[in-house]
Amino acid sequence: MRTVAVVLDIQTQALDTTYTYAVPDDMDGVQVGCAVLVEFGRRRAVGYVMAEEGDADSFLDEPADVPVSVPGRMCFVDDMRGEGAPREKKQELKAVLSVLSAPYFDEDGAALIEYIAHAYLAPLSSCVHLLTPAGRTPKVVKREDCWELQKPARRRKAKNADADAPLATDAELARRAHALETFELTEGQRRAFDTVRACVERGCGDVVLIDGVTGSGKTEVYLRAIRRSLELGRGAIVLVPEIALTPQTVSRFESRFGATVAVMHSRMTQAERFDQWEAVRRGERRVVVGARSALFCPMPSLGVIVIDEEHESTYKQESAPRYHARDVAAWMAKRHGAALVLGSATPSIETLCRCKADPSWHRVALPERANGKPMPEVRVIDMAREFGSGSRSMFARELVSDLHAALDAGRKAVLLLNQRGFASFVLCRDCGFVPECPTCSVSLTYHERGNMLACHHCGRRMPAPPACPACGSPYLKKFGAGTQRVEAELRNLLVDRPEVRIVRMDADTTATRDAHARLLDEFARPGAAVLLGTQMIAKGLDFDDVVLVGVIDADTQLRLPDFRSAERTFDLVEQVAGRAGRGAFEGRVLVQTYMPESCAIQAAAAYDRRRFLVDELPKRKLLGYPPYVRLVNILVWGDKVEEVREVAIGLSEQVEKTIRDVAGEDWTSLGAAPCAIDKLRGNHRWHILIKTPVDADIAAAIAPAIRGRRAHKRVNVACDVDPLSLL
Ligand code: ADP
Ligand code: ZN
Ligand code: ZN
Repeated sequence: MRTVAVVLDIQTQALDTTYTYAVPDDMDGVQVGCAVLVEFGRRRAVGYVMAEEGDADSFLDEPADVPVSVPGRMCFVDDMRGEGAPREKKQELKAVLSVLSAPYFDEDGAALIEYIAHAYLAPLSSCVHLLTPAGRTPKVVKREDCWELQKPARRRKAKNADADAPLATDAELARRAHALETFELTEGQRRAFDTVRACVERGCGDVVLIDGVTGSGKTEVYLRAIRRSLELGRGAIVLVPEIALTPQTVSRFESRFGATVAVMHSRMTQAERFDQWEAVRRGERRVVVGARSALFCPMPSLGVIVIDEEHESTYKQESAPRYHARDVAAWMAKRHGAALVLGSATPSIETLCRCKADPSWHRVALPERANGKPMPEVRVIDMAREFGSGSRSMFARELVSDLHAALDAGRKAVLLLNQRGFASFVLCRDCGFVPECPTCSVSLTYHERGNMLACHHCGRRMPAPPACPACGSPYLKKFGAGTQRVEAELRNLLVDRPEVRIVRMDADTTATRDAHARLLDEFARPGAAVLLGTQMIAKGLDFDDVVLVGVIDADTQLRLPDFRSAERTFDLVEQVAGRAGRGAFEGRVLVQTYMPESCAIQAAAAYDRRRFLVDELPKRKLLGYPPYVRLVNILVWGDKVEEVREVAIGLSEQVEKTIRDVAGEDWTSLGAAPCAIDKLRGNHRWHILIKTPVDADIAAAIAPAIRGRRAHKRVNVACDVDPLSLL
C-alpha cells in the first residue's frame, strides 16, 4: 500500500507536522502538491501531499526518510483523538478520503516549503499557502456543528480573442525582445551583463549584485538577462518593492516582452491573480513581474530571478512565514540551476558582506549614469541655524529660492517628507505627555484634516484634545509635519503660481486602486509641478524634467531606536537624490536636517558609501549587530499580560538551555523582555532576542524549544529569523 506525508490545513501549533496517510489502491491522482480530504481525529480536514513515503508495511518497520524537518506522525484508524499515535506495528493507517485538486506544486515546491519552514521556524501550513493561489483552494469549515467541505467555484475562462493562437516559444519571445533593444550597452552595463549572462548560462545558482547608482541602467541589464534566459528556454521572475509605485518599470518589461509578461500584485482581485497564476503554470506567461509573493508563482523551468532595489524592507514578510525574499530566492536559484540578480544603488550591508565572503556571490559596479550625466549636487542645510537666523518656515530659504527657479524654468520638483516612525505627534510643553493609542502603546499621529489623532497600527481615530489630558495645560505642540500640513504651506508659498500643479502622494491619497499611476501621470504632464510625498516617492521615478529634490526632514529616522536607522537614512537620501537631474537638465538636491554632522547624511550627500561604512561597521561590530551576528527575535503575544510574561519567561529558559547544550558560547540570549511596542491592537507583546554567529545553524538549535513547546490556548509564539524590525 502506498503512503503519503500530508500537511494539514489547520493552523495550530500542535498539528504543525506531516501526517502519514495510506492511499487506497483504487484511488487515482494522489500526487505531491495535491489537496486531499482526510479524516483527522473526529473531524475532516484538507491536507496537502508533501511526499510519497512508499510502502506502508516497510515504513512501519523502519523510520522512513521523510524529507521534512519536523518529524512526521502517523494517523491510525483507532486514534480518535487525532493527535497521532506513536509508531506501533500492526495498526491500520487512516486512508486519504478523496483527492480535491490537481497539484498546486511539485517536488521542488515541496522542498521549498520544507526549506522555508525550516529556515524561518515557520508553521508548515503557512508555508504551503505561499505556493497555492489565494482564495482558490478547498477548505473545510465549521457550519453549526458540522464540518463542511467548500471547493472554490470553477472559473469560466474568459473567452479571449486569440485563445486558440499558438503560444510563442521562448526562443521567439527572446528574438522579439532582441529587436526592441534600441541602444548599445554602456561599458559598465556590458561588464555587468557579461557576468550575469555567464551565471545564467552556467546555471549553478550564482548571485550577481549590480551595485549601480540611480540611472546607471540596471533595468536594461535585467531586461537582457531575461532575454538570455528565454533564449535558453527558461522563464524569469522579477521582484520590485511595491508594484503600484513602479508603473514605469513594469511598463518597460511589458513593452520589451509583450503579452508574455504576467503582473502580480496585492491590489489585484483574487480572481485576477488566479488567472495570472494559471497562465504562468500553463507556460503561457514566461516573465512574471510582481511584489514579494510573486517569487512563488508556478513558473516552469526558471532561468533567472531579478530582485530590484534589493535593500528594501518590503522583501521581508512581517507575518508567518517571516521569510526574506532575497534569501529564499538565493535558495531557489541553487535548486533550479538559475541565476539571481540583485540590483540597488544602496545595497544592504548584508548583501555587500556576502559578496566579499561567498565566492558564488558576485558584485559588479555601475558607478556612472547610463546617459553620462553627473550625479546631482547634494547640499545639507542645517535647520537649527535657519531657525536661529529667524526663519520660521518649514522650508529653508535656499530651498524656497531653488524651488521658484525650477518652476520659473517650467521644470519639476520632488519634495520628500520622511514619515517613517513617529514623525508627527502631539507633546505637552508643560509635562511632556504624549498621547498614545490605548491598545497599541505607540504615540498617536496628528492629522491636520479634522484635527484628529490616529493610530497607524490599528486605525483608531479620535479628536485631538484641546488641552493636555495629563495636566490640563493648553500648550500642546504638534511635532513633525504631516504631508497635509506641508501641502498647505507649499500652496501658501506658491499662491501666486496657480499654474503649478501640486501632487501629493501618501497613504491617504493612494488608498484606492490605480491612484499611484493616476497621480504620477498628473505629475508627468509637461510643465511646472511639485510632487510632495512620503518615502514611497523615493524609488523608481524616472522623469527627465525633475531638477530639484528637497528632503524636508532627513533625520526623523535617525532618532528611532533601531540599529538600522543610520543605514536607512543613508539609503533614503541616496535614493531620493537619484530622482533629480536624470535627463538633459542639471539636478540639485537639498537636504534639511537638525543633525547636519551625522555621518549618514554627510556621506550620502557626498555619495560616499565607503565613508558611511567606515563609520557604521565598527559600531555594529561593537554592539553585536548584523552583519557580524545574526538575530532571532522570538515574539510572544496574547491578551493577558501575566500569561504572556509567563510563557515568554518559560520559553526563554528553554531556549537558553538548548543554546547552552547545543549551540555554544558564542550565542547569546538577551532574555525575555517586553517589546518596545509592548501593546499592539490589544495584545501584550514580549520578546526574546538571540544573537548567533553568522554561520550558525539557527533552526537546529532553536527548533526544539519552539516546535517542542506545549501549545498555549491564549498565547501565541512566532519566530522572526533575521528580523528587520525589533520594535
Ligand atoms: P536604473 O535602473 O539603474 O535606475 P535605468 O535602467 O532606469 O537605470 O536607466 C536610466 C535611463 O537611462 C533610462 O531612461 C534608460 O532608458 C536609459 N538607458 C539605460 N541604458 C542606456 C544605454 N546603454 N544608453 C543610453 N541610455 C540608456
Ligand atoms: Zn501636560
Ligand atoms: Zn492602535
